[in-house]
Amino acid sequence: MSTISNEKYEAVIGLEVHAQLLTKSKAFAAVSSDYGNAPNTQVTPLCLAHPGTLPVLNENHVNYTIKIGLATNCQIAEKSIFARKNYFYPDLPKGYQISQHETPICYDGYIDIEVGEYEKRIGITRIHMEEDAGKSIHDQDPFHTLIDLNRAGTPLIEIVSEPDLRTPQEAYAYLRKIRQIVQYLEICDGNMEEGSLRCDANVSIRPRGQKEFGTRTELKNMNSFRNVERAIAYEIERQIELVESGGTVVQQTMLWDTAKMETRLMRTKEEAHDYRYFPEPDLPPVRVTSEMLEKVKQELPEMPDVRLNRFISELGLSEEDAVTLTDGKALADYFEKSLSLLNEPKAIANLILTEVLRILNEKSITISEFTISPEQLTELISLKLEDKINSSAMQEIFNEMLESDKRPATLAEEMNLIQVSDSGFIDPIIDQIIADNPDEVARYREGKKALIGFFIGQVMKQSRGKANPKLVRERIVQKLEE
Ligand code: ADP
Ligand code: MG
Repeated sequence: MSTISNEKYEAVIGLEVHAQLLTKSKAFAAVSSDYGNAPNTQVTPLCLAHPGTLPVLNENHVNYTIKIGLATNCQIAEKSIFARKNYFYPDLPKGYQISQHETPICYDGYIDIEVGEYEKRIGITRIHMEEDAGKSIHDQDPFHTLIDLNRAGTPLIEIVSEPDLRTPQEAYAYLRKIRQIVQYLEICDGNMEEGSLRCDANVSIRPRGQKEFGTRTELKNMNSFRNVERAIAYEIERQIELVESGGTVVQQTMLWDTAKMETRLMRTKEEAHDYRYFPEPDLPPVRVTSEMLEKVKQELPEMPDVRLNRFISELGLSEEDAVTLTDGKALADYFEKSLSLLNEPKAIANLILTEVLRILNEKSITISEFTISPEQLTELISLKLEDKINSSAMQEIFNEMLESDKRPATLAEEMNLIQVSDSGFIDPIIDQIIADNPDEVARYREGKKALIGFFIGQVMKQSRGKANPKLVRERIVQKLEE
């Protein structure tokens, strides 16, 4: 927002996030919901809406939804029901989507987000269960739209936020947090680019100080975290300019155009009554017993905020390092696995945050595809901590380990990088340097102690970096002060 409009107007934003759940089978049919297989190979008569087929609820759809409900501080309804949301679309053979309308399974929750310097609590209105539609494919055949029903009936949850967000940055932070939570819970892979996490943004503006909300538009089609932020920023500007030039915002659905970086009209907004919601007659109400709740609670992993604080207070990591390490569960797990093998949090964190992340970045891979195991990594760090190798040797060996399965100690030997901590090797070199540099020796003895660096440098050079610098320093000081 430009500064002038920012002073006069405030934005109000609420997000609707859809997450595809990582269950093995579909929401109401015993067929795989895996992604990426040949079109229409994962369909049953139910997915095709054949008459007489009946839906059967997937137990894990319920369990996973309770999981995120608990993780986002929601109330869990003892009884909730499914509803039919009726609309026509070619990739929806039944003519309705099974969803939850009046009674979502989770409601009244919140999550805390961090935006730059401040923290803020964002309300979660509801989380409900529903099913995905199939996919219409427009770019394979020049004359026809093709339909792939593999995705039809994939279990989804919809997470609806309260209109508590005020800036595009807050919306971005909220969405990242939701992704972090679903990834920690291992209920969704959180990939916006592939569509397993999708976000619609509701945006309105109001003059600062006004209590009532303005009319909102709903933005769709943003397939990355940055695009959500950009689309909201663009839409806020558009609404402000519209209102400032005497127009009024119309409630409508807009599409984000990634190429043009602008929002444009898709359709005027539908209302709930357009969908003719009614209770799903083929499914009984969902009942959540206290035993079910207890069981899910037992299965909840340590959540990111708790882990972050533990990394700071118990392991002594800096906040910045802890944030990076806990951002994804897999990386934090890798770190903790390493820590269980070698109790040196800072040394391990340092190597992961510099070298390991550099490689993940360069190769565009995730930590699960990284080839150096925590065992190998900690062995390398031990060599350094035991002064068997120096830092630059550690780096060289690390690079070599990416290509080789050999143990770090073997590589260190083979690459001739083992540090020599033997004074029988070091002393003659020091004696020689002292003999060759009488001026420096005299100045040192007169009090110019900074010259110690010069002597160490000379010895390291003579030994081709193999002398143990700690020992070198010790021996030089001893000899110079003799
Ligand atoms: P619908 O189902 O029609 O999209 P909901 O009432 O479920 O409508 O609201 C969807 C989202 O819109 C919620 O995240 C809510 O916080 C947000 N929202 C509601 N009113 C406004 C508003 N005036 N400005 C911005 N967001 C809003
Ligand atoms: Mg909506």
